[in-house]
Amino acid sequence: MTEKLQSYEPATGALLWEGLPGDVDAEVERAASAWPLWAAQPVTNRMETLRRFANAVRAKEEALSDLIARETGKPLWEARMEVSSVIGRVDMHISTYSERTGQKRMDGAMNSRQSVRHKPHGVIAVIGPYNFPADVPAGQIIPALIAGNSVVFKPSEKTPATGALLMALFQDAGVPRDVIRFLPGGPETGKQLVKHEGINGVLFTGSARTGITINRMLGAYPEKIVALEMGGNNPLVVWDTPDLATAAFIIVQSAYGTSGQRCTAARRLIVKDSLANGIVAELRKLIARLIVDHPHADPAPFMGPVIDNETADGLSESFMALMGMGGRPLVHLKRPQEDRPFLSPALIDMTSVDERPDIELFGPILQLIRVDSFDSAIREANATRYGLSAALIGGSPEQYDQFWRQVRAGIINWNGPTFGIGGAAPFGGVGVSGNHHPAGGYAADFCAYPVTSSEAEQPRATIGIGLTPVDTSSMGD
Ligand code: NAD
Repeated sequence: MTEKLQSYEPATGALLWEGLPGDVDAEVERAASAWPLWAAQPVTNRMETLRRFANAVRAKEEALSDLIARETGKPLWEARMEVSSVIGRVDMHISTYSERTGQKRMDGAMNSRQSVRHKPHGVIAVIGPYNFPADVPAGQIIPALIAGNSVVFKPSEKTPATGALLMALFQDAGVPRDVIRFLPGGPETGKQLVKHEGINGVLFTGSARTGITINRMLGAYPEKIVALEMGGNNPLVVWDTPDLATAAFIIVQSAYGTSGQRCTAARRLIVKDSLANGIVAELRKLIARLIVDHPHADPAPFMGPVIDNETADGLSESFMALMGMGGRPLVHLKRPQEDRPFLSPALIDMTSVDERPDIELFGPILQLIRVDSFDSAIREANATRYGLSAALIGGSPEQYDQFWRQVRAGIINWNGPTFGIGGAAPFGGVGVSGNHHPAGGYAADFCAYPVTSSEAEQPRATIGIGLTPVDTSSMGD
């Protein structure tokens, strides 16, 4: 018998959604039958439909925000920001579609025209993570639909309720039912979807471990587009800066925002040795003031729980493991309620540990590393296979220039958090953070392929070199 999927509110443990995993064959078949008609429509029709989707989300803004807050545990104010981002994506992807994959015409030889136009891939599988259960998939579904693909969307098994509401909003807006299909399920369903011969591409967002597995599964299928948006072990470097209190705000936003469950969250705080004690003192003061509470609590919390008890258990074990390696806890990871996944922000000094693990601890744990030169700071920043985001606080313009040139990451910021800047900017990483198909404003690139054509109304041809002369001796017989 197929096991039911269930989603619980992390903050309360209440059951929020239950249902059966979807039928991969049936969903792919319906999506495959639908995309040619959708792709044959003028692109302006598809854009109009997606504008209606933005309006549908606007009309349900509060309900969707409330659901995201309940299902992920993130504060309601933050869930509202996620929903505004979903709405903003529609106009952004409409304009970047034309910029990145718009039609181009050029004059060719012999009065011919040359054109570059784009075609959709066909059926696209979108596989999403739990931490931004509406915004991240919307950032792939919207451009995929504009380009003329159909989509089979598998949300995270931890956030199916948000996935289901998002789907309903696409369908309410008039996206044909077979053009967008909802496939609830866990890793096994994801695996079947990736391996299904009817799909033409996979747009994946999640951990590096899963992304690499998907990449391997599709290694023998170069004809399928695979865009992987994965995690990070992101460095935040603090160098000479006069205002340690402001630096502490940026560090706290980077490391503990969304309870550390952001792909771009700072994981490693690399600090000039002479500043480290001052920074730690500011961080201790600020961490003590951070409110960790239910998403709907009043006063509003800075952060909610992590996604579930299993994740909280794993993070607590990881913190103990860092201590076991010789890490010195500066602010302990605490779990006030044993049966709920609320975690307090933690800070651990890992300077004296020689073999620091290069892993993404997806929660509110920040590792401090003290260094004595700017070159060592850059070496530390690059001591990872990941390469999603990095930031420098302080330093001179020349040092920022060096940081920007030498640090390997897809997002590099100065005097701001490690997060991406949103809008039409590309969003993605290098190393095991991504496979060079950034999302954000560049998402159109992986939703369609270019077709180059040379075109003339009449056939015209001649061969000037390499032919024997025409034999005219028999002419006129
Ligand atoms: P995850 O890798 O555990 O799961 C992601 C999705 O993959 C889920 O829908 C899951 O069911 C599915 N899945 C799992 N195994 C699969 C398999 N073998 N085949 C196909 N699908 C499979 O990730 P998560 O825990 O849901 O999300 C957190 C991770 O996502 C973090 O690593 C975070 O950094 C990353 N993330 C990256 C970005 C980005 O844009 N780079 C954005 C958000 C989150």
